[in-house]
Amino acid sequence: MKRIAVVGASAAGLTAAETLRRRGWDGHLTVIGAESRPPYDRPPLSKQILTGAWEPERATLRSLSDLARLRADLRLGQRATALDIPGRGVRLANGTSVGFDALVIATGVAPRRLPGSDLAGVHLLRTLDDAIALRAALRGGPRVVVVGAGFLGTEVAAAARAMSLEVTVIEPRPVPMQRAFGDRIGALVAELHRDHGTRLRCGVTLRRLRRAGGRVTGVELGDGTTLPADVVVLALGATPATGWLEGSGLRLGDGVECDANCRAAPGIYAAGDVASWPNAHFGTRMRLEHRMNATEQAMAVAGNLLGDAAPFAPVPYFWTDQYDTRIQAYGIFPPDAEMRIVHGDPSEGRFAAAYGHRGRVVGVLGWNAPRQVRTLRRLVVDRAPWTAFAATRALSPAASRHGRRAQGTRPRPRRAGQPLGRTPPQNRGLNNPANRRGHIASGRETDRAAR
Ligand SMILES: Cc1cc2nc3c(=O)[nH]c(=O)nc-3n(C[C@H](O)[C@H](O)[C@H](O)COP(=O)(O)OP(=O)(O)OC[C@H]3O[C@@H](n4cnc5c(N)ncnc54)[C@H](O)[C@@H]3O)c2cc1C
Repeated sequence: MKRIAVVGASAAGLTAAETLRRRGWDGHLTVIGAESRPPYDRPPLSKQILTGAWEPERATLRSLSDLARLRADLRLGQRATALDIPGRGVRLANGTSVGFDALVIATGVAPRRLPGSDLAGVHLLRTLDDAIALRAALRGGPRVVVVGAGFLGTEVAAAARAMSLEVTVIEPRPVPMQRAFGDRIGALVAELHRDHGTRLRCGVTLRRLRRAGGRVTGVELGDGTTLPADVVVLALGATPATGWLEGSGLRLGDGVECDANCRAAPGIYAAGDVASWPNAHFGTRMRLEHRMNATEQAMAVAGNLLGDAAPFAPVPYFWTDQYDTRIQAYGIFPPDAEMRIVHGDPSEGRFAAAYGHRGRVVGVLGWNAPRQVRTLRRLVVDRAPWTAFAATRALSPAASRHGRRAQGTRPRPRRAGQPLGRTPPQNRGLNNPANRRGHIASGRETDRAAR
């Protein structure tokens, strides 16, 4: 194997290239990336970069000298347009081709768009340039509407609130982050946002964007109401960037469909957000849009290219930061999983929960509980029996401050500095009790938590 090509020069592509070199592979390495910027990290884009806490350069993953040490033919600003498997070549938009003996596909995902996405004032957030443009738009006190309350939408809302902006989030599901963690954790996320003065409009759809003179002026909702807006952020999820692979003969379902070793075809592997593979630890096919997975899967792919022949069967990890709350999760969160609070108390703004499915612990979640969730991770690794938690109390309305309010009882007093319940007096009026319905419905999650 003399030539390896990597398509996608971000977290997964860069890690695959670095791992090959670290493990002593000395052949001709080509890394092709559609963006002209050197590889950078995406998680800070919706957090530190947006609020201005970091300058954009700080998201850069490697210095130019680190990249030079890779001894790679780094083709930044060049998009792959087609894959010729029998001819062992990747065609680029500039008309040239890159030959390979083995290939790593690491092209990630592309954000979903809507008619009107190109209007002035409408923003997507996937790239550093997107983040820089959105950050500039947030200066000057605009009214912000975020469409979609998954990871990305809720993080953008939190960042915009941190800048004291007026923010409304539109979400068709009953609670935020429902796909990731289900209704019950979603209700706590809703409470967190309302406590910080974000308006939530759950259970409503976006009918269309309102415009005047080529600029967005607001959003019209399915219930007939219109919200004025100067900035609209579309956080509608993303689709695998596989357009360039159409007609190649690879199986393209929800991403590049690989085997348990992340192999899509002989000598062709996929890693990161674009890859779908059966994870033997959970006995289910998955595609993850999580930063840690991009690194781990790319390392596994590089190892398999060098002959490891090892199935990739990780316990997924991901996190999200919103206001002063960090939610961390290990494992998977199937829609029909049971959930138990196993440490702390939601009303204290710090707890850990375990998720059980088919008699096993399959996921653990920490809400401002990093130490506990790291310890609990072992249960997911060991596929511990769910019966261990049978006697543990479930998260019920009475276990959350939200639920206590609904029941008309008083919340437990808080310690100073606790993250929940610090509603600035001027924002209390923004809470909309009508949106709280459905918060204790049965948990529904998927094992893929799209951002
Ligand atoms: C705003 C934001 C915040 C996030 N926050 C978190 C977080 O808090 N926690 C977490 O776990 N995860 C987070 N994520 C997800 C995480 O960043 C991704 O899982 C990770 O970046 C995936 O890496 P990747 O290399 O697979 O894909 P990407 O980072 O998407 O990289 C793919 C690269 O391939 C390039 N490409 C695409 N098509 C082509 C082509 N045809 N030819 C050449 N190049 C191409 C793209 O331009 C891109 O540079 C966040 C993502 C975003 C966007």
